[in-house]
Amino acid sequence: MPELPEVETVVRGLRPHLEGRRFARVIQRRADIRTPIPEGFVQRVTGARVVSVARRAKWIVVALDRGAVLLVHLGMSGRLVLVKDGKPAAGPHDHVEFVMDDGAQVRFTDPRRFGVVDLVEDADLAGDRRFSELGPEPLDDAFDAAALEKALAGSKAPLKAALLDQRNVAGLGNIYVCEALNRCGLSPRRRAGTVRAQKAAALLKAVKETLGDAIRAGGSSARDYVQASGELGWFQHSWRVYDRAGEPCRTKGCTGTVRRIVQSGRSTFYCPRCQR
Ligand SMILES: [Zn+2]
Repeated sequence: MPELPEVETVVRGLRPHLEGRRFARVIQRRADIRTPIPEGFVQRVTGARVVSVARRAKWIVVALDRGAVLLVHLGMSGRLVLVKDGKPAAGPHDHVEFVMDDGAQVRFTDPRRFGVVDLVEDADLAGDRRFSELGPEPLDDAFDAAALEKALAGSKAPLKAALLDQRNVAGLGNIYVCEALNRCGLSPRRRAGTVRAQKAAALLKAVKETLGDAIRAGGSSARDYVQASGELGWFQHSWRVYDRAGEPCRTKGCTGTVRRIVQSGRSTFYCPRCQR
């Protein structure tokens, strides 16, 4: 499942192909993906010029010159792929295709259909609940240790659950929370409200470094964030704890073993020895 760094690398890969260009043609092959694609989507997007391509949490936000934004969410299995001259031919999972005025073609593919393609008027964006309830962006400079401490203050929830709560911090998912917690030596089971002062600073640094390293890896392993297959934004990872139950902890000097537990129905991987 794509998390923040993957979506960020998709955005960076998409940007040079979309920004400043117009949608010459939009092909819509289904009425819905996870949610309905709005009425008149093809007509409303065709001819629009792309002002900017950005990310908010795990949303890809494409601002158009018509007072609307095109929103794309990759869900569980969504992909954006650059194709040339319509090749390879579209398959059953290729739901929407965007052809730019310079011939660039971006295809939205999603076998499991948990993704979203939507169009929202600028005026409605601020009040849109998908955005209005989101917490701060973890990579923003304004998100500092004090802001993180404040977000967690008073919370009796396990630290991992509090970090996954999008109202506290936007865009953090299961994998990167496990990785960041191992990096800073904090247990996913600890009460979130106990993370203060230096612990909040260490956690903040770990979150930013974990996400930053992943985005850099996405940029270095795939030229311009585009793979040879044309797929945007995916890359190989080497995890510290994620999916490594029973294997040695990779923290320097630690002789612990990575353990898997289940929290709120999801797997948590951590090292009970160095994460307190
Ligand atoms: Zn350890």
